[in-house]
This record gives sequence, structure tokens and C-alpha cells, in this order.
Amino acid sequence: MINIFQPSLGEEELKAVGKVFESNWIGLGSKNDEFESELSNKLGCSRDNITTTTSCTEGFFQIIDYIGIGEGDEVILPSISFIGIGNAILSKGAKPVFCDVNRHSMNVESGDIVEKITSKTKAVVLLHYGGLPCEMDSVVRLCKQRGIVLIEDNACSPFSKYKGVNTGTIGDFGVWSFDPMKILVAGDCGLIYAKDKEDLKTIKERCYLGLTSGSGLSNSVDNKWWEFDISYPGRRSIINDITASIGLEQLKKVDRFIHRRKQIHDKYTRGLKKLGWITTPPKFPSYIESSYYMYWIQLESEEDRNGLAKYLKENGIYTTFRYYPLHWVKYYDDNSDLPNTETAANTTLCLPLHQSLSFDDVNQVIEAIRNYKK
Ligand SMILES: *Cc1c(COP(=O)(O)O)cnc(C)c1O
Repeated sequence: MINIFQPSLGEEELKAVGKVFESNWIGLGSKNDEFESELSNKLGCSRDNITTTTSCTEGFFQIIDYIGIGEGDEVILPSISFIGIGNAILSKGAKPVFCDVNRHSMNVESGDIVEKITSKTKAVVLLHYGGLPCEMDSVVRLCKQRGIVLIEDNACSPFSKYKGVNTGTIGDFGVWSFDPMKILVAGDCGLIYAKDKEDLKTIKERCYLGLTSGSGLSNSVDNKWWEFDISYPGRRSIINDITASIGLEQLKKVDRFIHRRKQIHDKYTRGLKKLGWITTPPKFPSYIESSYYMYWIQLESEEDRNGLAKYLKENGIYTTFRYYPLHWVKYYDDNSDLPNTETAANTTLCLPLHQSLSFDDVNQVIEAIRNYKK
């Protein structure tokens, strides 16, 4: 079976984990410090703007909590979003307000957001679909004008850039995922960015029980080191040095991963765009860089899409659609009318894309797609 996503882990990660074992300290420690430091270098921000956490979903729960989203508040997000984001909003008794997207890129545009703004809107969460950055200038301007907090779901787009700036560091807050299905994997891990260092400091404390910094062994000036205080009844959402050591090795390889993904992406487009019945992803503007997390095609009808998915599965090729619209999730009990979202969700198929695919694998996928209509 050709997988749709697949991690690339090797000797380097294994060795790094071995070293953590030998150090006799597997908890939160120096490897996490190093990981955060390397990440901030790569993202072009200060270490005081970021913190690791257990997952991207947890990052959203923390941010939604921190900015005080509650009963009666509204948060606008595309219906084509990851379920964890919707859950973070719902868990606070707030209302997720689903907006439409561009039918081909599946990215939110400022016009989609404007339509949904009310006096209750507190935040906008946007997703850079498949690694392709949204048109940020107009969204940032809109959110600033209306006093709305802008949060970027950067799970798909690690090291994607919009006009030279890393996505995830453009809005007020950003969240990354290094879970097992992503480009850079660290077991389970997330990263939170806050534009305001004071915001980040507080969120970081809340990710570690709310402990005010300086307790425990690090508090060498205090002669009663068992004393501590908290600033907030926080959760325990920290990673450990095993996770961090894997992430550090992956970070050294990630540029190569993304380069390889771009090659595969371009090969798909060359091979598929000639087929009249398939729409390939939109041409990316010159001022963006994508992480190439997903490759997606669009078909003429739902029947066609479902048929192709089934045919490919029978031929050893696993495909899927991301992300099942949240307004269709029964629990959400939402009857929004989102025509582009619905068309996209019914006709889009995500093809295998990961750095371990060979060109032979890619050719096999292209051939199988061609054969479907023969
Ligand atoms: C995977 C993913 C998440 C969640 O990440 P976790 O680290 O698994 O919580 C959020 N948003 C998008 C777009 C994702 O693909």
C-alpha cells in the first residue's frame, strides 16, 4: 500500500533518544530548551515568543482559554478545519461560526470572514490549507480594524512563508503540530507562538501547572526550595526530552523533506494537469513558499471523486479528504450554508505525499489515475 502520509525516522533520531536515556533525565529539560531555541532561529522570532506543548490541539485549548473566550462569544473559522479547534471553542460554551473558503485552494479569504463578523466575534482562526499560505495582508488588516484576535492554525504549514515571513508568526497567535502524521514528527508535540511576549510567558506557565518560574532545583537562591506558588490553576501540557530530541533531529532534516515534497508535488501537477477531468491545485503566487504538506485534486462530481478513491484503494494507493467539514459533524448541530466548502468537500481528493515516496511510486499513482477513466 502506498501511504498518504508517512514519517521519516532514522538512525539519527534513535541515537538522540539513546543519549537522552543515558543522561538519566527523560523529562522536560535541556533538550527542550535546545529544541525551542532552534525552532525560534528557524522561525525568525525570539525564544520568548514560543513554547512547546503536548499537541496542537492543546495549544488551541490554551489560547482559547487565555484570551477569555466564553459563553456567548463567537469564533470564526473555516468549516474545513481540524476537529480539535472546534472542540476548543465548544468546550468554553462559545459558538464556532463557520465561514466559507476559496473553492480551489480551500483557504479562507477576508471576504469570507467579513460576512460572519458580529458584535460577538472575539477571534478568527485560519488554516493554511495543505501548506499554502492564506492571503494574509487583507486578513490581518481586517482583524486589526475590528479588534479581533487572529490565530493561525499552522499544523499544515511548518516553515511556509508569506512575503518572507513564517506563517504562524503573522497573526496574534500561531500553533504548530509535530504529531505522527505531520511533516516534522516528534511523537506527539505542538508549538505555540504569541506575538506578545507577556502573553507567551503566561501561557507557558499555564502549560506547566501555573507554576511561577523559579521553583524546584533551578531556584538556587531560595534555601527552602520546596516552596512554590502558582499564577493560575494550570494544566500539565509540557513535552519531555525524548520528544524534544526527536524533534531536534527532524528539524535538521526538514528543509530536505520540504524540498522533496515540492518535487513530488510538481511531478503530480505535470502528470495530471493534462487530464481534462482533473483540476490540480491553484498556481502558487511568487511571494509565498509552501511546506507542501498535501497534494489535492478536484473532480467534476462527488460520484467521480468517491469512485476514484475506491479504485485507487483497490490498487494499493491510499487517499483521503482533509478536513471533513465541521458543520457536517452531527454533534456540532450546525446548518450553515457554505457552497464552496460543500463543493470542495464533495469533489476533492488528497493524494499520497511524503518525503519517502520514490518517483516510481508517484508514477504509479499518476498511471492509476489515468487508468481509472480508460
Ligand atoms: C494535525 C492537525 C491539527 C492537530 O494537531 P495535533 O498535534 O494532533 O493536536 C490541527 N490542525 C490541523 C490542520 C492538523 O492537520
